[in-house]
Amino acid sequence: AGTAPATGPAPAVRLRGLTKSFGANRVVDPLDLDIAQNEFFSILGPSGCGKTTLMRMITGFETPTAGSIELDGRNVDGVATRQRDLNMLFQSYALFPHLSVYENVAFELRVRRTPKREIDDRVRAALELVRLSAFADRKPAALSGGQRQRVALARAVVGRPAVVLLDEPLGALDQKLRKEMQFELKRMQREVGITFIYVTHDQEEALTMSDRIAVMSEGRIQQIGTPTEIYDTPASRFVAGFIGSCNLIDGVADAATGRFTIPGVGEVPVDEIPDAAPGTPLTLAVRPERVRVLPDGARTEGGVHLPATLTQRVFLGDEWISHLALDSGIVLSASVPSGDAARALAATADGARVTVSWHPSDSRVIPT
Ligand code: ATP
Repeated sequence: AGTAPATGPAPAVRLRGLTKSFGANRVVDPLDLDIAQNEFFSILGPSGCGKTTLMRMITGFETPTAGSIELDGRNVDGVATRQRDLNMLFQSYALFPHLSVYENVAFELRVRRTPKREIDDRVRAALELVRLSAFADRKPAALSGGQRQRVALARAVVGRPAVVLLDEPLGALDQKLRKEMQFELKRMQREVGITFIYVTHDQEEALTMSDRIAVMSEGRIQQIGTPTEIYDTPASRFVAGFIGSCNLIDGVADAATGRFTIPGVGEVPVDEIPDAAPGTPLTLAVRPERVRVLPDGARTEGGVHLPATLTQRVFLGDEWISHLALDSGIVLSASVPSGDAARALAATADGARVTVSWHPSDSRVIPT
């Protein structure tokens, strides 16, 4: 899924063998990646995995150790940042405090000596896009944090660059505003039709907004896919654990019998087993929302059933999270949405014996 078809328009961004080392420390391993025109593409990974370094190479702030970068089919090796058809938005964007919202957005166009009439058209369109038309005459000090962020975004898109790179731009906003801005950013990106490359360590942010996500860890892309591909079919234990929450159970699989053996627990049926030598340690991944908590001894058609003790329940408003200790000591978590099943669970005492169940198709065996 990492490369675009050979025909059709050139990708907005094409990376080939792109590598970065600082001295002996390689922070981005050789990387091939195509980002399509008008795509909302996120680079997601924990702190220190190399996201910012990768982005800084695309912008031209950092010189690659090896490899090449093409923007819209044009090689930009050695091309200065301002000559690349892109713009950036950071968490710590700086607006000019003495200029109005309008002039902040117009600034770059004035520097470029864009005709007055065109500046006016473009600035008004950009302010409309970020829904700040009514605030054109205000100074930044008279805006909320979220509004200032919108001004910075208007400024990033007003020159209509082919690509906008956003590095954790919502990091400074509170949780509620962040969620609002996630929807807004996605809407704006659709409206302006600009390729967005969005760097974040926040998996929810990436899932909400992206057309595709590259999950990065230790300088390497672990998986590229749509949000649902990444969530439903994680390629590795790292991806499964980093995106959403996931029960990760160690064991070994037997391709001949189609069963997965959990030490101290026994065998459970699984749908698919990756190619691996017999006895290779593997991980069984099951999302908490796929785990059901049934009365002790209950059975469902074709399901996995394991005896367990309910050790803890936490109410989160829209769901209950319960912890279930298997007799081997492995603790699994189940997420039960508010409703009948949650009411039954609420009526079950801590310490009760229950049956933990899931359907084999809701589990995945992945490399450890
Ligand atoms: P964060 O989310 O914390 O910003 P990140 O994924 O963006 O992390 P990078 O900033 O790309 O990670 O850093 C990747 C690694 O490269 C880190 O180990 C960092 O210490 C190292 N690094 C980054 N810039 C330099 C530099 N100029 N000189 C030496 N090492 C660097």
